[in-house]
Amino acid sequence: MEKSVPIVFVRQSKVGGYDKTLQAHKEGGLSKLLDVKGGAKGHSYDYDLIVIGGGSGGLAASKEAAKFGKRVLVLDFVVPTPLGTRWGLGGTCVNVGCIPKKLMHQTALLGQAIKDAPKFGWQMGEKVNHKWETMVEAVQNYIGSLNWGYRVSLRENGVTYENAYGEFVEPHKIKTTNNKGIEKFYTAERFLIATGERPRYLGIPGDKEYCITSDDLFSLAYCPGKTLVVGASYVALECAGFLAGLGLDVTVMVRSILLRGFDQDMANKVGEYMEEHGIKFIRKFVPTKVEQIKKGTPGLLRVTAHSTESSEEIRGEYNTVLLAIGRDACTRKIGLDKVGVKINEKTGKIPVNDAEQTNVPYIYAIGDVLEGKLELTPVAIHAGKLLARRLYGGSDIKCDYVNVPTTVFTPMEYGACGYSEEKAIEKFGADNIEVYHSYFWPLEWTVPSRDNNKCYAKIICNIPDKERVIGFHVLGPNAGEVTQGFAAAIKCGMTKEQLDSTIGIHPVCAEVFTTLSVTKRSGGNVLQSGC
Ligand code: FAD
Ligand code: NAP
Repeated sequence: MEKSVPIVFVRQSKVGGYDKTLQAHKEGGLSKLLDVKGGAKGHSYDYDLIVIGGGSGGLAASKEAAKFGKRVLVLDFVVPTPLGTRWGLGGTCVNVGCIPKKLMHQTALLGQAIKDAPKFGWQMGEKVNHKWETMVEAVQNYIGSLNWGYRVSLRENGVTYENAYGEFVEPHKIKTTNNKGIEKFYTAERFLIATGERPRYLGIPGDKEYCITSDDLFSLAYCPGKTLVVGASYVALECAGFLAGLGLDVTVMVRSILLRGFDQDMANKVGEYMEEHGIKFIRKFVPTKVEQIKKGTPGLLRVTAHSTESSEEIRGEYNTVLLAIGRDACTRKIGLDKVGVKINEKTGKIPVNDAEQTNVPYIYAIGDVLEGKLELTPVAIHAGKLLARRLYGGSDIKCDYVNVPTTVFTPMEYGACGYSEEKAIEKFGADNIEVYHSYFWPLEWTVPSRDNNKCYAKIICNIPDKERVIGFHVLGPNAGEVTQGFAAAIKCGMTKEQLDSTIGIHPVCAEVFTTLSVTKRSGGNVLQSGC
């Protein structure tokens, strides 16, 4: 399959044709391969690298390693949910995370656009309906195409793929078990754990029998109807948001605060907007029991919940209960004890050094299983690629987990990069930070005259360091698109002065960041009044 000659092999490992060999030479990978010190000399393993988990991180790392001519095996296996939901290759993001979530968020945004349309002259019928089954089928078809694409790209990159569950059985050796129960054993010089996480259950009567999680929601064959969402972080608020956007009756049960870890000023604004748009919140309550009143698709469930502050008990009836109370790392059933990889016993997460190496030198870990790192697809992909380049390409570039941008796709999208206001105060002191902020009104929302002064922009600057922007927060449409661009500027060390000297694009939401003049300290008016 190589397009140029000579095709070079080093100790039975393919480097590639002329171009790849030259690239490996330039990147130092070739000399590393030729250097016998620390190599696999004396051992003959089945593979150079076995990757356990074919999700965002595992696939990226395996393909990158194979580009250096390494013999790579990637294992991916989905343990079905208690309700029997399973899916194809690609991990959480593709099948039960970012992709279906964003497409369903888009479905909800289209609903809002339909409501705005008559104000712009579109003449619509009396009632516009949404059909859940059509949306799910379309989303699942797209996911199916991605699953197929991943298989093809593994093949094209020369990575061996097995749809089997992997677990360590002894040093340098794993057992794989496929869905027919057939077991195989493989050895490798190095291993990469990229097994991700799965949704947590409450551990109360009725949870596994009657509740669903995000692992079930995106392929649910029927409309969930009146829904209780338990939890108040990313997954909970995003799912609650798009379900309400489809016109469903949605309640969120919050144990403590919204979006723990995020800037609370912003988190509360996300919640207020959701509440103003018909989503109900039951605060400071946790479910204690879920009972089935009526079978069906959906059926009817009775939820009993307890106050976290008093002895008050409440009951409610819902068609669906969606648990979004966090996710557990898939590290407890992969034989880590057999090879001595340490995990945090409480969380199941794997501590690694700054090179993603576990306490066992030949075993690495990336993605959601890592302790103290961000659980985001681009983070897992980036770390996976860089790891493969360090292991096989002679690179020494490590993954920088600082200033990673993120967006919560709630009805009012929230994008953030860098410090929250509370973390900035804690680290630098209130006197050393300046917060600039402003509400804004997207032009697109003016004609339908909705949601004036709900969108909000805020930056946090470190005064002693030339007012460098250390926190960026935006609530508004396309927050992810806006945040992505500014994240690059923050990575380059953008100061407030540089931001002020940037000429805006008119009329767009993001231009507000080029004209921020009111500091929070001043208490000045931040409501937007005109163009
Ligand atoms: P995963 O993608 O979870 O892949 C792990 C794979 O390993 C899975 O396929 C699993 O089945 C498999 N596996 C586990 N154990 C074994 C084993 N023993 N043998 C073989 N295979 C095994 N991130 C974003 O950046 N943006 C978003 O908008 C976003 N939205 C999300 C929405 C939801 C509802 C959820 C749940 C997550 C979302 N995320 C989002 C987070 C993102 O999906 C994860 O950070 C990312 O998928 C992590 O990649 P990973 O490679 O660590 O694990
Ligand atoms: P999470 O961030 O761990 O949040 C768990 C939520 O559930 C919290 O609100 C928590 O409340 C609540 N909770 C925990 N135990 C509970 C209980 N027993 N009863 C009631 N409530 C309980 O989990 P997540 O939302 O599943 O997200 C997981 C990760 O996926 C995130 O860290 C994120 O990185 C990633 N993700 C990213 C995106 C995106 O990029 N847009 C979207 C979704 C997910 P407390 O605050 O009281 O603990």
